[in-house]
Amino acid sequence: MQIWKRKKILIFTACCCLVLTAIYQHFITKQDTLSMLQRAEPAAASYKELEGVYPTYELFNQSRKFLSYAVLSSASGYGGSITMLTTINKKGRIDSAVILENAETPTYLKRVMESGYPENLQGQAVAKSLKSNQKLDAVSGATRTTEGILTAVQKGIAQVGKNQLDIAVPKVASYHFQWEDGAIVLLLILTVVAAILKLKKFRIPLFIASVMIIGFMAKSSLTLGNFMSILMNKMPVITERPVWFLAVFGILVVTFILGKNVYCGWLCPFGAIQEGIYRALHLSNNRVDPKIMSASKKSQWILIWLAAMLGLFFHNPGIASYEPFSPFFGGAGNTAQWIMMGMVLVLSIFVLRFWCRCFCPVGSVLDFIAQMKRKWKKIVHRKPNFQHVIGNSEASRCSSCQSRHSVCQKKEKNKASLSFFNKLIISFIVIMDFLIIAALLQNAGLI
Ligand code: SF4
Repeated sequence: MQIWKRKKILIFTACCCLVLTAIYQHFITKQDTLSMLQRAEPAAASYKELEGVYPTYELFNQSRKFLSYAVLSSASGYGGSITMLTTINKKGRIDSAVILENAETPTYLKRVMESGYPENLQGQAVAKSLKSNQKLDAVSGATRTTEGILTAVQKGIAQVGKNQLDIAVPKVASYHFQWEDGAIVLLLILTVVAAILKLKKFRIPLFIASVMIIGFMAKSSLTLGNFMSILMNKMPVITERPVWFLAVFGILVVTFILGKNVYCGWLCPFGAIQEGIYRALHLSNNRVDPKIMSASKKSQWILIWLAAMLGLFFHNPGIASYEPFSPFFGGAGNTAQWIMMGMVLVLSIFVLRFWCRCFCPVGSVLDFIAQMKRKWKKIVHRKPNFQHVIGNSEASRCSSCQSRHSVCQKKEKNKASLSFFNKLIISFIVIMDFLIIAALLQNAGLI
C-alpha cells in the first residue's frame, strides 16, 4: 500500500478514536443528579429542584428531614471553567464545597488543594464576601485557580442566600481588571504590528517583556490545554476572563490570517528563554542533523494525540498540558515535567530551541495552522500547468511514493553515519519522549 494512503488511514483512525472517546465521555459523565449531590452531602436520600440561574436543590435524608441547600455554580480559573457544588445550611453557612469539574493544569490544582481548598470554605457565612475573608487567601502561584473556586462558590451561595434564606448577600463582581491583562493585550498588539512590519529590532524587547509579563507574572503561556478547552467547550466565561479569549483566539486567528507562526517567533516566553540561553552560553559548534529534528517533530503528533485522548477521556483539558512551562514560570509541575524542564534548559546551551524544534505541541499546532493557510492560498492562486499534465503523464500521477521511480529524480539519500553528538541528541529525544508520556500519565493521576 502506498505510504500516503497508509498515512491517511492512520490519521482517519486517530480522529475516529478522538471522536469516539468524546462521545463515550459525554455519556459516562452524565451521572444521575442524586449521586452527584451525594458527593457534597452523602446523607442525601432525595432532593427537590428549586428555581434559579444556577441549578439549586433542597436535600433531604431518608426520613425526609431537611439537610441543606445545594447549588451548582461555575467561574473561570486558569485553563477554563471550574464548577463547584456547594451545600448551605439553614443558618446561612457553608456545609461543604466540592470541585465537580475543572480545566486547570493538574499541578496548579494540586497546589490549591494542598493549601486546604475547598475544605476551608466550610462554616463560612453566606452573608459575607469570601474574597474579603483573610482566612481565604489566594494560593501563591495559583491565584486564578483560587479566585475561580471562590467566585464560583460566591455566585452559588449568593443565589441561595437571596432566594431561599432571604438574607442580604454581597454583590459578585464578574471581572476584576488586573494590570497583567492590559499588559498582555498591549503585548499582543505590539507583536502583531512588529511581525507584520518585520521590525526585527523589537523582537528582543518583546521577548523580555513577554518573559516577565506572560511568563512569570501572569503565568499564561499558551499550552495544548488551552486548545483542548476550546475543543471540549470548557473555556472560561468570557465576561470573567476576556483576556483569555483575546490571547488564545487572537493568536489562532492571527496565525491563520498571516499564515505565519507569530507567537513562536515573537512572543512565546519559553521560546525566548531557550533562545536566550543558546545565544548567551552557546558552547559547541556541533550541528544537529535537521532530519533528526524534523523526525522528532513529526512523531510528536502521536504524543499530541495521546494528550488529547487523555484530556477527553478524563474530561479535563488541563491533563493535556505536558509542557515544562508551569514548573519554569510557576514553580508547579509533576516530577516528569521538572526533569524535562532541566533537560531542556541544559540542552538549550547546545541546540537552539531544543524543545521548540523537537517536542512542543503548541508550536506544532500553530505551525500546522500557518501551513494550512499557505497551502490554501497556493490552491486558490494556482494556475493550471497544462504543459506539465499533458507533457509528462508519469509526473502527473506522482504520489510522492518515494520509490525509485525514474520521474522522481530524487537525490540519493545521504548514508553517512551519524556523529557522536547526533547520536547523543537522539538518545535525549527518546528520553524526553518517555518523560512526556510519564508527564501525561502523572497529570491523569495514572502513575
Ligand atoms: S514551539 Fe512552543 S515553546 Fe517554542 S516558541 Fe513555540 S510555543 Fe513556545
